[in-house]
Amino acid sequence: METAQRPVATPLDAPAIRRQFPILADPDLVYLDSAASSQKPLAVLEAMERYYREDYANVHRGVYRLAERSTEAYDEARRAVARFFNVPSTTQVIFTRNTTEAIKLVAHSWGSTNLRSGDIIVLSEMEHHSNLVPWQLAATRTGARLEFIGLTPDGQLSLDDLDEHLATGRVRLVSLCHVSNMLGTINPVEEITRRAHDRGALVMLDGAQAAPHLPVDLSTLDVDFYAASAHKMCGPMGVGMLYGRLELLEAMPPFLGGGDMIRTVGWRESTWADLPSKFEAGTPSVADAVGFGAACEFLSSLSMSAVREHEIELTRYLYHQLIELPEVEVYGPVPECRSGAVSFNMGDVHPHDVASILDESGVCVRAGHHCTQPLHDKLGLAASVRASVYVYNTVDDVDRLIEALHRVRSVFA
Ligand code: PMP
Repeated sequence: METAQRPVATPLDAPAIRRQFPILADPDLVYLDSAASSQKPLAVLEAMERYYREDYANVHRGVYRLAERSTEAYDEARRAVARFFNVPSTTQVIFTRNTTEAIKLVAHSWGSTNLRSGDIIVLSEMEHHSNLVPWQLAATRTGARLEFIGLTPDGQLSLDDLDEHLATGRVRLVSLCHVSNMLGTINPVEEITRRAHDRGALVMLDGAQAAPHLPVDLSTLDVDFYAASAHKMCGPMGVGMLYGRLELLEAMPPFLGGGDMIRTVGWRESTWADLPSKFEAGTPSVADAVGFGAACEFLSSLSMSAVREHEIELTRYLYHQLIELPEVEVYGPVPECRSGAVSFNMGDVHPHDVASILDESGVCVRAGHHCTQPLHDKLGLAASVRASVYVYNTVDDVDRLIEALHRVRSVFA
């Protein structure tokens, strides 16, 4: 069996990065739940505090200088997010509350004007509930049908299934996770997009687990919609983003109606503001957007290629350490085709018991169905344990997890 050597160094100085995260000052804390939400560096905390202390006022409506500074902070946040994803125009970056809301925006707004009875929306068997439930609702509303790309035995998407669905000529949209939050699979999204576009279907990617971990260049990726959440990218909870192709966003009706998203309002009808305001009704979460922008700058300063290389090293080591434990079954593909989220079970010990015992050693992991209930059903599982690594995790963190898993074994022996 192939084994992974303990990495001596990775492309990131993770101990130094860890020192930039106040919550990780506790040397006993081994945080391996970044796939659920990442911790926040000082750069993000300070940017948000500075905004509240120095620039706070409502945006887009004041003529006084403080309100202008606040609006400028919000605009700069959008520019930072656009730079991070290499989006050509800030009009294509819509701030949402999270990935869930970004997908819902498309399912509702694009779906209501473009889907008809008999149309097909293609999803996959590895989708998070966020990329499943909004499409179920859209299908119910419009009469469109959901079809699913199945999985190969090693946890990858079956592109033959995709081709079969596309061959019907009825597929309007393919909406998939870029990276699976349970299996860790990195999907071949360029190839999928090419095949879907060849058959006239649009492509939406749920980038919640990709944007924090891989370089994502939306100017070359050629997808039609892309969604991400700041809180998994070292940014705050409460803000996310939707990228869309300009002509699609321009043609879509608003999602939420109210202040800020209008050009003119009459008693019985209104007209809409230009992008991106058309999709941002009401007072936005400006401090969160400022934090999102700071998080993008922070990650760019590390270099997303280095982030990816660091995670490849750690994940390879984590994966091989896990499969060497006799009772452990790891789900998903080999380390080379996956991100740093690794789900597993330990014999018939309940994942919640595993996670509770790990917690006694200061090791934080997720236990449950990770919002992928149909995928767990498909794999014949009620739940699993998930350890996930990020920029601040070190080889020692993996060792601490494995040591704690040995304790689980001895408790249940
Ligand atoms: N998609 C995937 C793949 C995810 O991992 C998550 C978060 N667990 C989401 C969507 C939803 O993200 P949020 O809760 O920030 O909307």
